[in-house]
Amino acid sequence: MPELPEVEVTRLSFADRIAGAEIVDVRLGKPLRWPLNCQANSLVGRRVVAVRRRGKYLLLDMSLGILLVHLGMSGSLSFVNQAREATTHDHFDLKTTQGLLRLNDPRRFGAVVYVDSEADPLAQKLLGHLGMEPLSESFDAKLFHRGLRQRSAAIKQVLLAGDVVVGVGNIYASEVLFLSGIRPSTPACKLSRPRAGRLHQAIREVLARAVQQGGSTLQNFSNALGETGHFQTEAMVYARAGQACKVCGTSIRTLRQGQRSTFFCATCQKP
Ligand SMILES: [Zn+2]
Repeated sequence: MPELPEVEVTRLSFADRIAGAEIVDVRLGKPLRWPLNCQANSLVGRRVVAVRRRGKYLLLDMSLGILLVHLGMSGSLSFVNQAREATTHDHFDLKTTQGLLRLNDPRRFGAVVYVDSEADPLAQKLLGHLGMEPLSESFDAKLFHRGLRQRSAAIKQVLLAGDVVVGVGNIYASEVLFLSGIRPSTPACKLSRPRAGRLHQAIREVLARAVQQGGSTLQNFSNALGETGHFQTEAMVYARAGQACKVCGTSIRTLRQGQRSTFFCATCQKP
């Protein structure tokens, strides 16, 4: 499943090339998770001004309105000058004067949704609950600590919920908690300011590095060329149950939190 780093890598790969392009045609394939929310041909003639990201949504700002794109479980975007014929799993084409933006999504949990603005109730429903952006300047350590203090759930669960900070998926959560020496079951509200500060730093570093490395660092992910990620060699704790901690040699333990596996070192990570 594409996580925040993969979505950001996708954005970086076409944002500059599509900026300023005029939409000349729109083609819809099979239904995606949500309907487009406008007549497809009403987009023709509008310009794509910029591509932003909020959480795992890409926001294509147009001269009028915004297209929200979500990759779901299996979606990927391509932006090419020379279009091939659409294949079975190509379910959205945005043909522009600067190239063709195409969503390929075999499982169709992805979506492309039109909204007039971010104030649109539908945009609010999709984006309104999202927490701070981990890679933006607004992700402030003090605000992060304040957000955690209001939550009594286990820190791992609070990270996954995404309403304090977005983008820390299951794999990244185990890794950043290891790097900051925090036991995953620790109640979020019990973290001291310095410990929350270390976690804040780890989240920034891990996600930024994942983007830098093409989104593959901690994802069992293969790109369009079929190249797999470097996850197996890079993970400190994730999927390493029973193996020796790379720092202290203690056997890595696992526990279930909200149906998801968590991995941790009981020596390096304190409650
Ligand atoms: Zn250890």
